[in-house]
Amino acid sequence: MRCPKCRSSNNKVLESRTNSDGSQIRRRRMCLNCNHRFTSYERIEERPIIVIKKDGRRQSFDISKVERGIRTSIEKLDIPEAKLTSVLNRIEENVQNCASSNNTITSREVGELTLKELYDLSPVAYVRFASVYRAFDNVGQFADEIRKIEEGTRRPT
Ligand SMILES: [Zn+2]
Repeated sequence: MRCPKCRSSNNKVLESRTNSDGSQIRRRRMCLNCNHRFTSYERIEERPIIVIKKDGRRQSFDISKVERGIRTSIEKLDIPEAKLTSVLNRIEENVQNCASSNNTITSREVGELTLKELYDLSPVAYVRFASVYRAFDNVGQFADEIRKIEEGTRRPT
């Protein structure tokens, strides 16, 4: 971003505003070379994150799908909405970080990131989500998972 007056690229942002649909950022800038003030409009690049599923199909990442899965797992658990929101925000952020190199992520990674958050949120939700997501092969495996959680909750943090 260069100053329209002196072409210096040395400037500082005074103010940033995102438009209502989140597609553009308007920035008030000041040139540090000549003190000229100007406004820049930047389009926020929308690069959807692609999720690669186990069978190789590709799909754009959609946090609302994760949300549906989580809502099913926390049914009747009395989890405050605000907590759910922050969990979803963290998952979205982690998915973005994880996908940053080539904009793709595997469905397995999305599942693991979700499980990690659920583990801290509620052991019950974690087991419910894991049982669907990981499709445990047998009952023994499921019992292992529960035992791990119980050991984890007993351990002083
Ligand atoms: Zn300037």
